[in-house]
Amino acid sequence: MIIDCHVHSLGVEKVDVILKGMDKAGIDRAVIFSPYPSPYMGLEERIIPRTAPGVTRYLEFSYPNVTSEKQMEAVEFIARLQKEAPDRIIGFVWLEPRLKDAVQILEKAITSRELKGIKMIPDHWYPYDEFMYPVYKKAEELNIPILFHSGILYGFKDSSRFCRPVNYEVLLSFPNLRFALAHVSWPWVDECIAVWGRFRASLEEIEGERKEVQMFIDATPGTPLIYRKDALQKIMAFGAENNVLFGTDCTAGRLEYGKYHIERDVAILRQVIGVSKETVDKFLGGNALRFLGLK
Ligand SMILES: [Zn+2]
Repeated sequence: MIIDCHVHSLGVEKVDVILKGMDKAGIDRAVIFSPYPSPYMGLEERIIPRTAPGVTRYLEFSYPNVTSEKQMEAVEFIARLQKEAPDRIIGFVWLEPRLKDAVQILEKAITSRELKGIKMIPDHWYPYDEFMYPVYKKAEELNIPILFHSGILYGFKDSSRFCRPVNYEVLLSFPNLRFALAHVSWPWVDECIAVWGRFRASLEEIEGERKEVQMFIDATPGTPLIYRKDALQKIMAFGAENNVLFGTDCTAGRLEYGKYHIERDVAILRQVIGVSKETVDKFLGGNALRFLGLK
């Protein structure tokens, strides 16, 4: 079972094209994010559209006119795709948590539109900001995972500092929330792996029955090729082989390129690093089933 945990939609894709791409690549199931709820949704051929020039301050939006209506439109788009191929497409809402009714929209997206998780990119907000706590609480309550962008951010102006892995340590306070940091947080790969170690250590610190580390590492590139062997080797050597996820960052209409991602990662893992076939299978899909709550 191969699961691509990191696919973007632009708001224009058709299900037959998506499935054809997945078949060509040999991808069984794909986690597809709704578009970001900006006015450019469905218009631009870019995952992250162009922003307006000028300074964006802490808690300001990089895009004008991000609205709850657009957010709901984004939910409906990805929900429709998922409904057309529920055994192949796993819909996530790319949530803008600063919208006043973000928690209500989230609840509706999961309970009524049956989306399976959340994607978020900190745009001039910190993951540990207090206004985020209700979102984390709701995700815990709904038993759905959150996939965060982490690492340098191409887009959303000067937002990279908001996306450093250690900013996510606050999630220790939400111990039943499963989450993943994307791109092994490149270039902060070591920090990402250390934060994972922090969450592993927390199993011994907090009372209760929990045996599973709540944090996953989404290995979607991110890492330029020259860093990739290093990143994957460190993840494995540090003991995170049960918590690392395969992903491509493809757009949903171009999933055939996933084939090259699979070939590259399997070659690095098997031939260069020398991990077992079993570990490769966990990386490609087994771990994602647990992240998604499907196993
Ligand atoms: Zn992405």
